[in-house]
This record gives sequence, C-alpha cells and structure tokens, in this order.
Amino acid sequence: AAKASGRNCAKVFDPNDPQTSDESENIAALLKIATNEDLVSLVYQPIKNVTTGRVEAVEALMRLRMLDGTAVPPSLFIPIAERTGAIIDLGRWAIRTVCRELLAHDHVPVVSVNVSPIQLKTPGFATSVAAILGETGVAGGRLAFEITEGLEMEMHSDVLRCISDLETLGIRIWLDDFGTGFAGLSWLRLIDFDTVKIDRSFLHDCSTPKGKAMLKDIIGLVRNRGHKILVEGVETEEQMALMREFRIDHVQGFHVGRPVPAESYRVSAGLEQRPAGLVRPA
Ligand code: C2E
Ligand code: MG
Ligand code: MG
Ligand code: MG
Repeated sequence: AAKASGRNCAKVFDPNDPQTSDESENIAALLKIATNEDLVSLVYQPIKNVTTGRVEAVEALMRLRMLDGTAVPPSLFIPIAERTGAIIDLGRWAIRTVCRELLAHDHVPVVSVNVSPIQLKTPGFATSVAAILGETGVAGGRLAFEITEGLEMEMHSDVLRCISDLETLGIRIWLDDFGTGFAGLSWLRLIDFDTVKIDRSFLHDCSTPKGKAMLKDIIGLVRNRGHKILVEGVETEEQMALMREFRIDHVQGFHVGRPVPAESYRVSAGLEQRPAGLVRPA
C-alpha cells in the first residue's frame, strides 16, 4: 500500500502513521496463525458479589504475543481482528478454550466472554456455540457473553435473533462498558440484559461530587430497568466503600484481583478466596 512519509516516531497509536500501518499489517498476519502457533491465550479476572464477598464469576480476557514474546494489547489487536474478520475464528477459539480449560474442571460458577458484534452478525454463530457446549459438556448457564455498546452496530433483526438463540441455550447476555457510547440506551430498550457493566470511567470521576452524582444517576437508571449492576475498574478501598453505599451487585477491578491464567485458579469450595495466582507461593 502507498504510504505518506513523514513522522517516524509512533509512540501513540495513529492509524495514519506509516509505521503504525506496518504494525497493523504485522498484527493482521500474526492473528491468522495465532491459534495454531499458541500465540494467543486467555486470562481470567474475578468478579465479586459485593454483599457476600464471593467470587461468582470471572471474565475471560484475550492475550496475544508476537513471535519474539512481546505482548500486544487487546486495544490494539481486537480492532484489527474485527476489521480483518479474524475475530470470528479467534472468538470461537476463546469460547471453546473457556469451556475446556476452566468450566470443565474448576468450580468457577460463571465465565463471561467478550463477544464482538461481528460474531453476532455471522450466520451460524449460535449453532457453533451450541456445538461447543455439546462437545465439552458445559451447561450454557455457566457462560455469559459481554457485548460492548461502544461499537456502532446496526440492530439487525438477525443480531437480535442470534441473541435470543443464545439466551435459549441458557447463556446470559451482559452489556459491557455502559455509558461510553450513544447506543447504550436503545440497546437497553431492545435486549433484556442480565447484567449491565458500568464503564470504569464513571468510577474514576467519583472523587468529585458531580462525578458521584452522575454515577448515582446511571445506577438508578439501570436498576430501575431491572438489570443487575456490575461496576468495572474498582481499584481502591474507598471506591469499594462507595460500591457498598450504592448497593452495587457485583464489582470487578484490580482491588478485587488482576486477570490471571486458568492454572492460577484453584478455586476451592469457599469461593471467597482470591484466586491462588494472586498469592505468591512461599
Ligand atoms: P473490557 O471487556 O471492558 O475488559 C476490561 C478491561 O479493563 C481489561 O483490559 C482489564 O484488564 C481492564 N481492567 C480490569 N480491572 C481494571 C482496573 O481496576 N483498572 C484498570 N485501569 N483496568 C482494569 P484488557 O484485558 O486490556 O482488554 C481490553 C478490552 O479488549 C476489553 O475491555 C474488551 O473490550 C477487549 N477484549 C479483551 N478480550 C477480548 C476477547 O476475547 N474478545 C473480544 N471481542 N474483545 C476482547
Ligand atoms: Mg468485558
Ligand atoms: Mg468490552
Ligand atoms: Mg468493560
């Protein structure tokens, strides 16, 4: 592809930067071989019930490394995977891997998986999920799919049908990053989300009275519509105290636990413990 020359220094991601576009092409090529070459993996972050203190779910997050071991952040490779269509195979790989490496062996009640609108638009997606559940013997009720409202997705009737097919399999549908896009409110009208995840930017604004009032309003809106509320990005004890004050159902964030590989989960009978991966062996 023809490229404008000029700047050399690509510190911040800029799609018009020649170096960045080379990087995108490299990542696009990498994504094609990622599952075969073991370049992709999943880490799991705990989701805690605020009232009981129990870890009731974990979110699966994708990790990609280059051939030399360098980590590529999801904020960089997920949009490329969506643009090239690689997300379809990667997404199927992620659901199968969650079922095999965690749900089939461990006592984590629910695993949530981020699902791109591209996947929901792909004919046969719900059927392929049903096949994975059958092949791994995992009940659909142990999976939740997170859909990000930030991405513009035309509310095609086939997308809505796909979501309803997934619900028929017992899979819960969560709305991710609520409050970051314009689509959120119309989505709430169209889809009966089990849980709405409030974007972490609202929590970070909470040190000011205005920010706190804003969060309170958003929580009221979501709660009045009957959805469970999960607040993302809880990092401090002060924020945790606010979550108790606001009677939030579930929290997720570095204060609860960082994402760790499946092997680190030795979640035993009492799920109140943090994942073992967070505790350094003596
Ligand atoms: P997300 O679904 O909203 O996931 C939460 C992100 O916030 C994760 O970043 C997580 O590591 C980070 N995070 C969690 N707790 C905290 C905290 O207390 N403070 C801060 N500052 N960050 C926190 P990550 O893993 O880099 O993923 C970024 C995004 O990439 C995800 O946002 C999701 O939209 C997308 N993504 C990740 N894995 C997948 C996947 O398997 N499929 C799809 N389609 N998208 C994915
Ligand atoms: Mg998510
Ligand atoms: Mg998301
Ligand atoms: Mg999120």
